[in-house]
Amino acid sequence: MDEMRLKLAVQKSGRLTEPSLDLLTRCGLKLSRGKDQLICVGENMPLDVLFVRDDDIPDLVQEDVCDLGLVGLNVLEESRLELAARGHPARFQQVRTLDFGRCRLSLAVPDGVSFEGPSSLRGRRIATTYPFMLARYLREREVNAEIVTLSGAVEIAPRLGRADLICDLVSTGSTLLANHLREVETVLESHAVLIRTPLELPPEKEEWVQRLLMRIEGVQSVRESKYIMLHAPRSALAEIRKLLPGSESPTIIPLEGFPDKVAIHAVCRENVFWETLESLKKAGASALLVLPVEKMLA
Ligand code: ATP
Ligand code: ZN
Repeated sequence: MDEMRLKLAVQKSGRLTEPSLDLLTRCGLKLSRGKDQLICVGENMPLDVLFVRDDDIPDLVQEDVCDLGLVGLNVLEESRLELAARGHPARFQQVRTLDFGRCRLSLAVPDGVSFEGPSSLRGRRIATTYPFMLARYLREREVNAEIVTLSGAVEIAPRLGRADLICDLVSTGSTLLANHLREVETVLESHAVLIRTPLELPPEKEEWVQRLLMRIEGVQSVRESKYIMLHAPRSALAEIRKLLPGSESPTIIPLEGFPDKVAIHAVCRENVFWETLESLKKAGASALLVLPVEKMLA
């Protein structure tokens, strides 16, 4: 492998794959061929993508096989605690919080089982694929419980009699519902993160890391943003400005031939919903136009 090219680890096939590739595309990266290969070469940046299991991503950065990785905080934290338990400090740095892969590691009990806080866990068997995070949670609350470490299918452990409750990832809660489980406590709020090696990189590589970080920031800051244009009577200006969602300082432009009207252009850092447009119209706005924002650089 070319030593001068950055290597970034991405989940090969799973929930993080598509949003990770979408982020990289928005950052301007063009990858060679499909994602069926282990490595895809960046055609317009000195950056190659390695497709691996998400659980392997912290280790790949830890062991300097990859310089960067896109991984869930849940996997990262578990790996950090496991390393600490073996007496090794983690050799990866978390450099960006990303706006996808949202989920939480939660405790869930079978329907009908009561739960009155962490003390209800005393002496119980808890099935999980995150033994280190669960152990920390129990330790911090001074509760003794048995951790049943599984490699998957945690949600069926109570029905099989292998555990009394579970500690697993939840996003919508539909899997819990289907398995007659009730979420009772959050152990970790998770989302995807970008990690990097703490090692000093050659200047050319470091420069590309910084460029990528800046582009990610640009992509994330405009993801929900909209550019809104409208006409408004001068008399309604104050009210209309209040209605524009998440916009700091709109541009106000005089309208040729209409002394009592202005045009307002603003970047709204939140989605603009129909309800907002309707309120704006009611306040006197006309000629409303909402456009997606593609890129933004502060
Ligand atoms: P792999 O084969 O790569 O090990 P996996 O089965 O561990 O795949 P996925 O289910 O695709 O992984 O989840 C990958 C990551 O997506 C999780 O570690 C977590 O960060 C995030 N995620 C978001 N929502 C959920 C959810 N509801 N359940 C599980 N993971 C979720
Ligand atoms: Zn996994």
